Amino acid sequence: MSSDTGIIIVGAGECGARAALSLRENGYRHSITLIGDEVHLPYERPPLSKQVLLDAAEPRTSAVLNDILLGEHAIRHIGSASASAIDTSAKRLALSDGRVLPYDKLLLTTGAAPRRLPDAPAGSRILYLRTIDDALALRSFMRAGMHVGVLGGGFIGLEVAASACSRGAKVTVIETQERILKRGVPAPIAETITALHQRNGVTVKCGVAVLGIEADERRVGITLSDGDVIPVDVLVVGIGAQPRTELAVQAGLAIDNGIAVNERLETSVTDIHAAGDCCSFPHPLYGGRRLRLEAWRNAQDQGILAAANLMGEARSYQAVPYFWSDQFDHTLQIAGVVDEGRAVVRRELGDGAFILFHLDDEWRLVAASGVGPGNRVAKDMKLSEMLIAKRVNPPIEALATDASLKSLLPRAA
Ligand SMILES: Cc1cc2nc3c(=O)[nH]c(=O)nc-3n(C[C@H](O)[C@H](O)[C@H](O)COP(=O)(O)OP(=O)(O)OC[C@H]3O[C@@H](n4cnc5c(N)ncnc54)[C@H](O)[C@@H]3O)c2cc1C
Repeated sequence: MSSDTGIIIVGAGECGARAALSLRENGYRHSITLIGDEVHLPYERPPLSKQVLLDAAEPRTSAVLNDILLGEHAIRHIGSASASAIDTSAKRLALSDGRVLPYDKLLLTTGAAPRRLPDAPAGSRILYLRTIDDALALRSFMRAGMHVGVLGGGFIGLEVAASACSRGAKVTVIETQERILKRGVPAPIAETITALHQRNGVTVKCGVAVLGIEADERRVGITLSDGDVIPVDVLVVGIGAQPRTELAVQAGLAIDNGIAVNERLETSVTDIHAAGDCCSFPHPLYGGRRLRLEAWRNAQDQGILAAANLMGEARSYQAVPYFWSDQFDHTLQIAGVVDEGRAVVRRELGDGAFILFHLDDEWRLVAASGVGPGNRVAKDMKLSEMLIAKRVNPPIEALATDASLKSLLPRAA
């Protein structure tokens, strides 16, 4: 490898930044270039729907990388630059400003972008949430006297709803499915979250189709299939995200619900790896089923693993999928993959907190989902994650009671 080409990482988000740091921590000695199309240095996204909206004081971004770290780790960050094409045979990356950069190895960490409403009227009051700039635009509506509409009862929509409501705004959540959190969250947990929102004054309307949206510079009107017309000051659209695959498609990489990688996070083209929200990968814990995760810890862990493999290791990614969400005073956590129709055992933890254990056909623990105030479910969820990783068949009665989950972990030989 020549010393001046090195590794280029496209996408300066959580995953790309972690990979860059990890390369240096692992002793990588050649150049590392981190390219991002945002103007900002890499920052954390989870606070965007929580603290950034909730705090009355001017928000500060939580940086993943700052100038000091960039300097100390000799990482070159090129901001406000979009990578537009890869010449995979010449191993060159083109930027939209005309620059062309040679690489030895390339890591794509291009993340995901909010799914847009088709045919939505143009208007400054229909907002999406992915970036710090999106969050700052939304912040001005987080106050008493405002009516905030949220389209989509998924995690981001519900976190925005909780933040807006906590800041005194009137909030209406509109979900076309018959319940919120339909994707990957069991019904009892969705019921708890619905009740939590309603207790706090949020209106949750499920099972209604949106027939039309009208917007001008000051208001948005949403016409629903049940006859309601809801006028709001701002409409936040949270109807899911799509992997950013434009660059990978242009380069001819295999795509399958995101950039398709193998268990070592290698794409279909030699010397190009992908990680984080943008890629789908086969998971050994779920029979090699291809997953694409939009989760903070996955972005971190895959960035770290990709860095090791870019340096010649051949590690397989097998971390238990994990996601958390904070809404009002409650935290919801999911470990593993929740499929409907599986056997479920419920453990009560007091104060309305509970965990559901999801078992497969061979009674192996494959997922756990918990909800409760504060960090009530945290300890048992951590242990559940370890049990899932160890592919344990726990006794049902031990799961249902308050028996120690730690005692179910296989003892080291
Ligand atoms: C509002 C919000 C709240 C969240 N809360 C939680 C939470 O509570 N718990 C949890 O587990 N997860 C949460 N997440 C998810 C978590 O933040 C993401 O999974 C994580 O940020 C993914 O990291 P990534 O690096 O893969 O992608 P991203 O963070 O999206 O970074 C990708 C970067 O690449 C850039 N890019 C894309 N294409 C190009 C190109 N061609 N050239 C240059 N740059 C490019 C993008 O602009 C972006 O800056 C939340 C996400 C959001 C948006």
